[in-house]
Amino acid sequence: QLEAANERLRRQDAERTRFITLVTHELRAPINTIHTCMELALTSYASPEKIREILERVKSRTAELSELIGDLLRLARAREEASLKEQVELVQPDDVLQNVVQLMKAEADSKDLFLSVDIQDGVSHVRASPDRLKLVWTNLLSNAIKYTEPGGIISVTLRETAGELVGTVRDTGIGIAPEDQQRIFEEFYRAENARSVSPMVTGVGLAIVQRIVENWGGRICIESELGLGTKFTFALPRADC
Ligand code: ADP
Repeated sequence: QLEAANERLRRQDAERTRFITLVTHELRAPINTIHTCMELALTSYASPEKIREILERVKSRTAELSELIGDLLRLARAREEASLKEQVELVQPDDVLQNVVQLMKAEADSKDLFLSVDIQDGVSHVRASPDRLKLVWTNLLSNAIKYTEPGGIISVTLRETAGELVGTVRDTGIGIAPEDQQRIFEEFYRAENARSVSPMVTGVGLAIVQRIVENWGGRICIESELGLGTKFTFALPRADC
């Protein structure tokens, strides 16, 4: 038993070290760029236009850093909740989804995406936190918007089946290659095709989503075809099950 506990601690230690290395690596890239840009601006006889261009680059890298730090805080919270057993309450999942759709509709419209929403009537409660459930839908929907070309379709559904509440977000976007599908729930993992569509992404959203869903005894899975689109499905136990 002692040996098993020691093994668990060793594994946790290894995971922590891997995570710190990843975070350090992610933080270093934008900081290096900022440093190089500032050096260039300070030491060269650059024209005002060139200086402006350099500062624009610094601005975009700092925005990226700030985004990354926000994601890290959300990830830290999701990890903490997993160990502390976060406070949950009875939540009406259709209300949460309606709310998210209302907030994100403008973003989909502005990218000329058709957003279809299909929510089953009278679905049961789930044991969750409304804010965290909102974060799950927001992450999945913003990915769908981000990785779908204008003119595409995003469909969202919420249904109840066999003691579970099942949510899906499907898009007609860039899709995910089979070898990447295994890895997209890892922190900081980004598929190559996603990097070219949206360079300012951190690759942490799905890691957060998976932790939240699994903390509540649920699960999440993905079906995708490169160039055709992606569907995320997550299931949460009904509150009385
Ligand atoms: P981010 O979008 O910030 O990179 P996520 O953790 O949300 O981080 O997603 C991880 C990766 O999974 C993305 O970089 C992308 O490669 C892939 N991905 C997630 N959602 C989609 C989607 N709807 N369509 C295509 N690729 C996706």
